[in-house]
Amino acid sequence: ARRKYVVGNWKMNGLTGALAEAQAIFAAAADHPGVDVAICPPFTLIGPMVAAAPGGAVGGQDCHSAASGAFTGAVAAPMLADIGARVVIVGHSERREGCGESDADVRAKAEAGLAAGLAVILCVGEPRAVRESGGAIEFVLSQIAGSVPDDFDPLRLAIAYEPIWAIGTGLVPTVADVAAMHGAIRGALAARFGDAAEEMRILYGGSVNGDNAAELLGARDVDGALVGGASLTAAKFVPIVAAAA
Ligand code: 13P
Repeated sequence: ARRKYVVGNWKMNGLTGALAEAQAIFAAAADHPGVDVAICPPFTLIGPMVAAAPGGAVGGQDCHSAASGAFTGAVAAPMLADIGARVVIVGHSERREGCGESDADVRAKAEAGLAAGLAVILCVGEPRAVRESGGAIEFVLSQIAGSVPDDFDPLRLAIAYEPIWAIGTGLVPTVADVAAMHGAIRGALAARFGDAAEEMRILYGGSVNGDNAAELLGARDVDGALVGGASLTAAKFVPIVAAAA
């Protein structure tokens, strides 16, 4: 059986004062040993969070595809690993759309993360117009085909399905729509990777909170959640972790 995985994406939120929240989250997560919990704060807080919460799984929200070089402002996957990160998110829609990242870019970043020894959370998800036109599954499977690497340990690469219109909006797809999408993703992974697809975790993201987490996490092929706004405080995030247990 796949272990549930609940990941907080703090996005561009968090000053050093927020480290106490991370400590509280990881302390509470210890009460749910069957759930894997990670927090991905801004780059500036990764090192301090690793120091403040030893044993907690801390990650980055992006990495460059190169291991080093003349890329002003960028952060490489080996740098994340070097300061104690264990995870990296790649392909978030805020980077695909906001920073013009293509499927090929996302795939290269995922490969860089894996090569650095990090676990990777690779995000996909359709815009509202695509959902409304009935093309969501086709759109997401195209992203999967273009951005998932060929060769990896299935336990070290998770997919996060995040419909763009559900991010930060309070809108959530029906559980049936989530299950249909996750099933389609699992099917595409099985067609490409065979039995390994059964070991890969597929997370749902987009307006997950303590009230809807149990229902979403109970859907078939939903192996966890990628949480934005509700991951910033222990008061909001811990109930989601508990719902996964
Ligand atoms: P919200 O949980 O704030 O909707 O954000 C979801 C998300 O984008 C996580 O990566």
